Amino acid sequence: MKPQIPFDNSYARLPDRFFARTQPTPVPEPQLIHLNRALALNLGLDPDWLASADGTEILAGNRLAEGSEPIATAYAGHQFGNFVPQLGDGRALLLGEILDRDGQRRDIQLKGSGPTPFSRRGDGRAALGPVLREYLVSEAMAALGIPTTRALAAVATGGRVVRETLLPGAVLTRVAASHIRVGTFQFFAARDDIAGLRALADHVLERHYPEARAAEKPYRALLADVAARQADLVARWLLVGFIHGVMNTDNMSVAGETIDYGPCAFMDAYHPRTVFSSIDQHARYAYGAQPQIALWNLSRLAEALLPLLDPDEPRAVTEAEEALGSFGPRFEAAFHGGLNRKLGLATMQDGDPALAGDLLKLMAENQADFTLTFRNLSRACEAAEADEAVRSLFVDPTAYDRWAVRWRQRQAEEPGDAASKAAAMRAVNPAFIPRNHRVEEMIEAAVERADFAPFEDLLAVLSRPYEDQPMHARYAEAPRDGGIGYRTFCGT
Ligand code: AMP
Ligand code: MG
Ligand code: MG
Repeated sequence: MKPQIPFDNSYARLPDRFFARTQPTPVPEPQLIHLNRALALNLGLDPDWLASADGTEILAGNRLAEGSEPIATAYAGHQFGNFVPQLGDGRALLLGEILDRDGQRRDIQLKGSGPTPFSRRGDGRAALGPVLREYLVSEAMAALGIPTTRALAAVATGGRVVRETLLPGAVLTRVAASHIRVGTFQFFAARDDIAGLRALADHVLERHYPEARAAEKPYRALLADVAARQADLVARWLLVGFIHGVMNTDNMSVAGETIDYGPCAFMDAYHPRTVFSSIDQHARYAYGAQPQIALWNLSRLAEALLPLLDPDEPRAVTEAEEALGSFGPRFEAAFHGGLNRKLGLATMQDGDPALAGDLLKLMAENQADFTLTFRNLSRACEAAEADEAVRSLFVDPTAYDRWAVRWRQRQAEEPGDAASKAAAMRAVNPAFIPRNHRVEEMIEAAVERADFAPFEDLLAVLSRPYEDQPMHARYAEAPRDGGIGYRTFCGT
């Protein structure tokens, strides 16, 4: 008989100290809320079976599929700059890995499936609201074309979790290239476990960076390649107004995917210092701080890798510095290249970063909505009468008028007609992002009234973010107050 989930578990074959073998804790009454059928097919899994009572039992952690070897992985991490030598999966379990239709190895992980040896004081559970939030935001990121973990399923447990109040519980099935973090490397480095560090680095090279494995200095190439993916990733975040919210080193995937959707949110009114997370009181993880924080985290990865880079420490430090030296230029190229595309400029000229930078500055001074400014610019590119849709987003609309003169002069130097430029702009400037006020409405309906229709609607709209969907215009609207004062929470 064909196994229902054809597991091929490479992480569970690493040494025992990499993880704790742990069973999920059964839940009272599992009910499938949503299954990602397209993703199931891409993984080579049968969506009808996954949606059946049998499949739901597995997605809830009530039963294990054949071949599953559930483990909670060990990691350490810097949380808000403070090193914690042991964190680990406190409410997640890696069921196993499978090879998808493209031959890519993917982790299948349950989040909220009960306590593990790493749970500390936590209950190992997840509340329905944050599960739906992660589902929606991670799938929105995927549809925007940004590397991310994916959501395969959300299951209501029928149980309650104790937070500030009693809340309905849920389990999320998360799919990732891997769940190996900067903090996983720090776990072994902190213990001077060089054999463990090497085994981990070799696993990551084989799994995520086969080109680096062939390099003359594979561990140095690994560090440089992780940094390059991170530079590209953070640039992509900035270009859609995404704020991760808790960029601790344990929340940064070495595979270059966005991971750990806790207090993340999309910015409405543009300001580089925007912070939503209630616990980020010093704005460490503000929108505009994300590139520097990514580099800070990569420096912690570099420190962890030092023993592998060279037996002589000063030489190892030089290797690490050189490997990370490309982060800045790589980020700048990705970010400014992306901004140019957002402005409908296919080529790059010397003055372009200043042109884009001046727009951002005016947007910040005028509380202009980030997403709508760029989406509406795509219309203004084709028809000057659409300027009103952009300028009205600025407290002082004349600030836009002065900038638009320069933009149009620069546009005129670009090859191509206005219609094709506008189409290219629409393809990079989304009409739909997960607006915080809509996400909150969705959660309220699900939690207070067991009404999942808003979740389904929002998910469908966000799966086509670059298309005008006039019937769903309300999901494109900015909140009246520009989203100022919105707060998000971790670990709920
Ligand atoms: P995060 O802020 O989501 O990155 O989580 C930080 C650490 O806390 C990780 O080790 C999580 O596994 C753990 N954690 C978060 N929430 C819970 C919970 N409800 N039960 C157990 N562990 C948790
Ligand atoms: Mg985490
Ligand atoms: Mg988390």
